[in-house]
Amino acid sequence: MADCAAKHLIIGGGIIGCSIAYHLAKSGEKDVVLLEKAALTEGATWHAAGLVGQLRSSRNTTRMLQKSVAMYDGLQAETGLNSDWKKVGSLRLAASKDRMLEAKRLTTMARSFGLEMNIITPGEAKTLFPYIDTTGLEGAAFIPSDGHVDPAGLCQSIAAGARLHGATLKQGVKVLDFTVVGGRVTKVITSDGTYEAETITLASGMWSRELGAKLGLTIPACAVEHQYIVTEPIPDFPDNLPTLRDPDRLVYYKPDAGGRLVIGGYEDNTLPFGEGGIAGDFVRQLLPDNLDRFAPLAECAAQVTPVVNEVGIRQVINGPIPYSADGDFVMGPVPDFSNLMLATGFLYGIAAGGGAGEMIAEWLIEGRPSLDLWPLDNRRFGAHHGSRAFMYPRAVEHYAHHYKMRYPGSEPEAARNLRLSPLHARLKEKGAVYGSKNGWERPLWFAPEGVDPVDQLDFLNPGWKKFAAEEHRAVREGVTLTDQSSFAKFELVGAGALKAIQHMAVSNMDKPIGAVIYTQLCNERGGIEADLTITRLAENHFYIVTGAGFGVHDSDWIRQNLPTDGSAVLVEVTSARAVINIAGPKARDVLAAACENDVTNATFPFASCRDILIGAAPVRAIRIGYVGELGWELHIPTEFALYVYDLLTEVGALHGIRDIGYRAIDSLRMEKGYLYWSADITPDYTPIEAGLGFRVHLKSKGNFLGRAVLEAQKTGQVAQRLSCFASEDELPLFGGETILLDGEVVSLASSAAFGITVGKTILYGYLPDRLCKQSEFELEVFGNRHPITRVDAPLYDPANTRLKA
Ligand SMILES: Cc1cc2nc3c(=O)[nH]c(=O)nc-3n(C[C@H](O)[C@H](O)[C@H](O)COP(=O)(O)OP(=O)(O)OC[C@H]3O[C@@H](n4cnc5c(N)ncnc54)[C@H](O)[C@@H]3O)c2cc1C
Repeated sequence: MADCAAKHLIIGGGIIGCSIAYHLAKSGEKDVVLLEKAALTEGATWHAAGLVGQLRSSRNTTRMLQKSVAMYDGLQAETGLNSDWKKVGSLRLAASKDRMLEAKRLTTMARSFGLEMNIITPGEAKTLFPYIDTTGLEGAAFIPSDGHVDPAGLCQSIAAGARLHGATLKQGVKVLDFTVVGGRVTKVITSDGTYEAETITLASGMWSRELGAKLGLTIPACAVEHQYIVTEPIPDFPDNLPTLRDPDRLVYYKPDAGGRLVIGGYEDNTLPFGEGGIAGDFVRQLLPDNLDRFAPLAECAAQVTPVVNEVGIRQVINGPIPYSADGDFVMGPVPDFSNLMLATGFLYGIAAGGGAGEMIAEWLIEGRPSLDLWPLDNRRFGAHHGSRAFMYPRAVEHYAHHYKMRYPGSEPEAARNLRLSPLHARLKEKGAVYGSKNGWERPLWFAPEGVDPVDQLDFLNPGWKKFAAEEHRAVREGVTLTDQSSFAKFELVGAGALKAIQHMAVSNMDKPIGAVIYTQLCNERGGIEADLTITRLAENHFYIVTGAGFGVHDSDWIRQNLPTDGSAVLVEVTSARAVINIAGPKARDVLAAACENDVTNATFPFASCRDILIGAAPVRAIRIGYVGELGWELHIPTEFALYVYDLLTEVGALHGIRDIGYRAIDSLRMEKGYLYWSADITPDYTPIEAGLGFRVHLKSKGNFLGRAVLEAQKTGQVAQRLSCFASEDELPLFGGETILLDGEVVSLASSAAFGITVGKTILYGYLPDRLCKQSEFELEVFGNRHPITRVDAPLYDPANTRLKA
């Protein structure tokens, strides 16, 4: 018997826990209980600086932060407690040409997300924030709806709101342990007795990793040291000063009470906090100042705002700031648990608190948030992410890069070379420049002889571009090999495997043995939860392949929807097979020369799988690909992979075979109209809206997840459709650019690339159905508008004659 039963139990009384309690209770949920081991706000929340900025690189994260601002706007009126919320706007200075380009890019992105952001001159910036020295400034960007707040006051106000709506917030109650039965947390053992609840949420900030360990988890959330100073009062301090960021000089500013400035920044050499565990008495505490570490930031601040030379420093705050393995939040359900939710790793939790609480509350009540939050989803992490060896070096690196210029395509340096394909050393010898994905090292592009294998990044003309373009041409004209060993791979087996996969997939999976089926797994709303290829190996045996970063997410979705009687089991086999993709019009010639099987189209047609022998190696060859050419994915027992690679290279030399990396793939797949889950397709969109209606087999199969919505859409109307656009000009696009019609924002680019073969810039974006007959649009790129035309995808080989030859 538990001492206390709740419907929703939240562990942690910082801003995140309080906001979750508030939103649950406000939505009418009863028996919402929050447990806080000390007093509310006494973790990281009380000592935060209090900047509230909304713009992030993902649209839905930005929307979530916009929800925070909407909440903070009305909170005082609702709860009667003043949080000192000041919607004074935020300034972002640009002290270099590239930073100005970045500001323009962000402004375009903000517009596509529905957030007002304006580029202004250095003079206008000085009018808004008179203390800045404008020497060397190129300009600035201003977001009028950002602001700042008193973090502790805000948290108390949210807590008051939670209580008003009926939540119980208990302070001085420490969670000590858990009982887990069959993947369900059945008991929460605390200093106040035992609790039972239908849902348990860990909103325990930097303590989450320790609590997670009690559940057998390595949660990829930690903390690092973060410092800011508070100046003495500045005479004649103006009201309504905005917040200020100068990313070139790594510093931020917040106007504080009494005419003071809070000045913080992100230095290179911060220290991890609590690596070996957080002491039990660490409550409402700060860490010793480290002025040596702050000194370079102070020098920068003196350049940006010379007034700081004239006023003294009143206080130095050094506190642990929550961080995570990839520098963003850790939210969402925990795989293999049926009632456990994470809401942790919040490095900007004051800005995110309101919206994040709302999203987690929706997740708990409805099973998913109304916004797809993949960039923040706990299931983007693998087991290695939460390890000390990976997480702390990466957290320190992400912290140091918080303001540093991040050119598109930039890669982390810490915690590399963890997951190496058997081809890694060989490809490195051949000039591969590597990037990392989910711990894997993957070739991005190959430096030809005489070229430094170094990734030179830039907004307009990155150094790798011309080499990736050559690799693109080699796929279209000759034959290429790509190491795709990082694919996540699973086998679904058991007497109920067919029935289970039929229930999840939108396509008919009851195909002959050896068939390869490209399909989507949808939720009940028809939203795309996974986009994969599935091969039927036997009556009740399926081989499932998905992207390197999606394995945890997709397998969690599949496991959640498997029958509970054990008649179908999902087993991960990623490490069992390396994958080499052989592609290009000469791919068959090379494969035929290296293997003893018949690989003609008659015996080995498109979308089929055969066991073949390449030299002496047994290979599962799957005739499918992502580049739109004749090709095979060769799934090779790992130990044979290097041998197969060397053999194909040797045999292929006659045909000019060459290696290609991942950077060439985007251009190839976009020409062919292939989509990417997490950008073009997400749980926010259905296959019908995404133009994948041909994969939805209503006639040939019975009920399946999402059928009702997809049936209604297939036979009736849809609100939006994924559309393809092209420009004759080569535009530097990265996704997120604004699409306009008659000057009005109508969409944003979900992904974009220059199609080398078709000689056009290609982008995708969802359009309201009523606009799908229009053809001429505009695209805003770095603040400039360019004409684009809506076109029918794919631009390359629309009749599939090359693909299916
Ligand atoms: C110096 C500094 C400046 C910052 N400036 C900003 C800023 O300007 N803007 C911004 O958005 N963010 C800022 N942050 C980050 C911000 O402080 C955090 O994002 C935010 O406070 C995280 O809130 P939380 O609720 O997740 O964690 P916390 O506030 O740490 O709350 C977690 C709570 O869980 C409780 N808990 C832990 N274990 C248990 C247990 N076993 N049982 C019961 N309770 C438990 C803890 O006592 C704690 O109260 C700053 C941080 C620092 C350090």
